[in-house]
Amino acid sequence: MQDNRPIKVLLVEDDSASAEIVNALLDQDSGIFEVEWVMSLKDGLSKLAANFFDLVLLDFGLPDSDGLDTFLRLQKHSPAVAIIPLTATGDESLALKAIQLGAQDYLFKGAISRQLLTKAMRYAVERKRGEEALRRAHDELERRVMERTAELSATNSQLKEQIAERRRAEEELRRLSHRLVEVQESERRNIARELHDEIGQLLTGLKLVIEMVSRLPAEELVEHCHKAQVLVNELMGHVRDLSLDLRPAMLDDLGLLHALLWHFERYKSQTGVTVTLTHTGIENQRLTPEIETAVYRIVQEALTNAARHAGVTKIRVNAYADAESLNLQIADDGKGFDVQASLAAGQSSGLAGMRERAQLLGGLLMIDSVVGKGTVINATLPLE
Ligand code: CA
Repeated sequence: MQDNRPIKVLLVEDDSASAEIVNALLDQDSGIFEVEWVMSLKDGLSKLAANFFDLVLLDFGLPDSDGLDTFLRLQKHSPAVAIIPLTATGDESLALKAIQLGAQDYLFKGAISRQLLTKAMRYAVERKRGEEALRRAHDELERRVMERTAELSATNSQLKEQIAERRRAEEELRRLSHRLVEVQESERRNIARELHDEIGQLLTGLKLVIEMVSRLPAEELVEHCHKAQVLVNELMGHVRDLSLDLRPAMLDDLGLLHALLWHFERYKSQTGVTVTLTHTGIENQRLTPEIETAVYRIVQEALTNAARHAGVTKIRVNAYADAESLNLQIADDGKGFDVQASLAAGQSSGLAGMRERAQLLGGLLMIDSVVGKGTVINATLPLE
């Protein structure tokens, strides 16, 4: 800390004679010191507040303060400035106390020489600068430790959050898997019912017709064979429908686009509702069986819902795939419904099922519906 600027000194001394001696000893013409002189602690503090000083020469007995208190008040006000108490002879214990409390040195008024004063002041300023540098380094270190601690703590809470998030995701996946098993089981129940009620009944009818054949006169045989044929045709139709509902072969054989187009034709013949499909990126390429099945089922479910509730004659479907995701939209201008209410009431396992299918593949499905305006279902499924 070597520089050529003068050392700025504040002399706080109410005794004019003493002050003049100090002033004379410091010899301002030498350019080493710049001295300002005040006669009370109050004036001293306001000088220190307004200007920078390297050093204070401080008389303890002032009109507005006395003893060690003078030192403590000034030190508290300007902790970065070096202080040398000026004490009257006999006040040595007081001066030593001030040193213990952080004063840089002390001088006896009665025994000051130029050499002594100059040396004491130079040393005091240097020591104070050293202390200040050390304090700053220490503060800086503390600051860095605190910063690092804060960083670590932030990282830690981020990690905790990520762990909690992962737990939630795992929990959700478990719930969805469980739900999928339930859905599969309920589909099996439907198939069993269909087999028993529809097909079982037709088979029983067919059996009766065949049993009667042996007991009938020859002229009635043709008519009965015709009855049997009708029943067999009906049976074949039912089995085909059941098989197609379970899983259309063309989904596996020809892929999503063909299966959708086929389904729209069948849907139109069953419900009279026309579906217009626009698509990008699903032609001439096969997606994974999971994605194709999910998209097919979501569209199927949405169309079934629309046929039941929307009261429309037209539905728009858009499928758009790029390298990252497949986006699906099914929209109608029908009656619409309160999505939250029907989900909350558990009325629509179909709606929940669609969403779960999308979520199981890491995707999202949103249902927007406005009563009187229509319904839009948007789904995004990630493609690996
Ligand atoms: Ca005094």
